[in-house]
This record gives sequence, C-alpha cells and structure tokens, in this order.
Amino acid sequence: MNFDLLKTFTTIDDKNIAYHVINDQISVDENRKALAKKYDFDLASLKYMDQIHSNIVQIPSKDISKYIADALVTDLINTPLLVMVADCIPILFYDDILGVIGVAHAGRNGTYQDIVTNVCEIMKNDFSCDLSNVKVELGPSIQKCCYEVSPELATIATKNFGNDIANGRFIDLQQINKKQLLKNGILEENITISKICTKCSNRNYFSYRRDPHCGRFGGLIMLRPKLEL
Ligand SMILES: [Zn+2]
Repeated sequence: MNFDLLKTFTTIDDKNIAYHVINDQISVDENRKALAKKYDFDLASLKYMDQIHSNIVQIPSKDISKYIADALVTDLINTPLLVMVADCIPILFYDDILGVIGVAHAGRNGTYQDIVTNVCEIMKNDFSCDLSNVKVELGPSIQKCCYEVSPELATIATKNFGNDIANGRFIDLQQINKKQLLKNGILEENITISKICTKCSNRNYFSYRRDPHCGRFGGLIMLRPKLEL
C-alpha cells in the first residue's frame, strides 16, 4: 500500500458543512476551512455534491469541485470526497489495495434506486476494483427504531427487498443497502454499519427528523501519499 487513508464522519462539533440548508455562506466557508485544517487537506481539492436523491455516480475531475450526483468515485490522491447528511446514510467505499475511494448519499430514494450497485459497477468497470477487496462503511443515520414511512412506502420496501427489512411502517434502510452490497460481491466482513441512530441516540449528529432546520454533517474520505520514513 503506497498511500494512507483518511476517513471520518464529522459531528455537530464540526458544525454545518452544507451550503444548501442554512443560508449562511460565510459560516459554511469557515466550517469547511476548519475541517480542512483539522484533517490537513487542501479545501480547493474537496469534491462534493449537489445531492438530488438520485442514483447518479460521478467521477470527479481535478478542476471541478461540485457535482450534481449522489455518489463520487476517484483514485486521485489528495482529493477528499464529501457526502453531506442528516438522517440519510453516508456511505464510504475504499479499495485499499488499488487505492480507489467513493462516497454515496443513500436516503430512501437512493436506496430504493440501488445507488450502491452503481458505485460498485463504477469501481469494478472504470477502476478495475475486485469488489471482494472493497470495504464499505455506513455512517450514523436514522435507523429502524425511528425510520417510519407511509404504509405505501413500507409495502414497496418489503415487496422489493424482503419482509425482514420492515417492522410495520418502520423500515431498515441499512439492511437494504447491505443486501444490495452483498449481491454485488462485497464481502459481509467488509461491511461496517454504525449503530448510531441520528434521531434518537442524542449523539453528536444532525437529524432532519429531529429538527428540520438543522445543518448537515459529513462522511469524508481521502487518499494521501504515504509518508516515507
Ligand atoms: Zn432511533
């Protein structure tokens, strides 16, 4: 391995890092600057998304920062990828053999549209990843204890993904994503799912269902050159 991996989920302590939710560009600029300083990356190289609850994956280029998409995949060094959430699942992907990373925003729509499969296909087809080497982390997000949807949406979920992913109107988005990942050849031992429910855990993460006017926290991943000792 000739690189190091930075991967983290930010918290409320890192404040809101999304321009689209609270109309306060200067604060978000400051919060992102603080994040870049904390994790020692160049803010100009950050890649992030105008997230639209789709299953679109983009491969960022060196000179463009923002993409209309819900997932990004890259093998560029020193190029942090950011996904922003408050209840939706922030997902980090990495192949630490080839040096390929990805992020995805999996809310209900992205999950129902199987966004993780699109990420897996790009990693396999465009970056030659062997998916049995790819590790996947689902970050803090709303869990089956709190994720209540309409009866219609719950029915769509059980019809498509099995009866075990719903308890009445409460659905388990993390398990649906896990099933989709396994179907793509991601190994069970390479999937990590945070047990933190953003809504009821009272932990340090924004939750849209707890407060619709909240900010967004992030999933962040980056390849760094390995320091030669
Ligand atoms: Zn909960």
